[in-house]
Amino acid sequence: MPITPSVPPRVLTVAGSDSGGGAGIQADLKTMLALGTHGMSVLTAVTAQNSLGVQGAWELPAEAVRAQYRSVVDDIGVDAVKTGMLSSAHLVETVAELLAGTDAPAVVDPVGVSKHGDPLLAAEALDSVRTKLLPVATVATPNLDEVAQLTGITVTDEPGMRRAAAALLGFGPRWVVVKGGHLPGEPVDLLTDGAEEHWLRAPRHDNRHTHGTGCTLASAIASHLARGADVPTAVRAAKAYVTGAIEAGFPLGAGIGPVGHGW
Ligand code: PLP
Repeated sequence: MPITPSVPPRVLTVAGSDSGGGAGIQADLKTMLALGTHGMSVLTAVTAQNSLGVQGAWELPAEAVRAQYRSVVDDIGVDAVKTGMLSSAHLVETVAELLAGTDAPAVVDPVGVSKHGDPLLAAEALDSVRTKLLPVATVATPNLDEVAQLTGITVTDEPGMRRAAAALLGFGPRWVVVKGGHLPGEPVDLLTDGAEEHWLRAPRHDNRHTHGTGCTLASAIASHLARGADVPTAVRAAKAYVTGAIEAGFPLGAGIGPVGHGW
């Protein structure tokens, strides 16, 4: 009897490489595998990176980004897209233009600065994120530093998260997840589309090996969307995956180790 292989949902990450394997494209593909999807990648930049930080970064030409994207979309097809490190205004605008031409849901992680403080997006690209990329996002997933960069709002409490979410929705994403993990106390994220509000809480884990959490959350949301979940269901399931990944984070090198996958 011939075997009829089943085809997993197809998820595309448009992001940068982390040579240390903790964040970026590498975290995205591990998350996608763990969540039963077929991961594909459009590389935007290469970083020389380890547990201590980013030692170097090289952006790819926009032509290379466009060509990778076309190769994937024209033959294989995509059920959901995730974007991460986009490096420059030119690449932000290139990727926004590509996403505007697809019906697949897009999860935009507006990556600005790494946990070590290394810039992953040029300061002059922020305006392109606001005016070109956020309008084509199904879900945007900024942390509080990125919220401050994009909206000018410094969030210190839950009412501040609500104000920041409203400001971000003003740029045009359908949903926003404001990640409040950097506030003191029990971590809480706010998911809202302006009509519904979901406050997502999880116990804080005393584990400093959290490199790659943002990439992992966005990829997990994209994976669940690709599997057919609606946005609130996908974000809740993704948050559960990240909580497990933080619990499974482990020491590598002399600095901050990566979150763990496949648990
Ligand atoms: N490197 C790359 C290529 C990334 O895309 C990201 C985050 O999106 C990071 C590093 C930063 O990861 P973290 O802030 O979790 O250390």
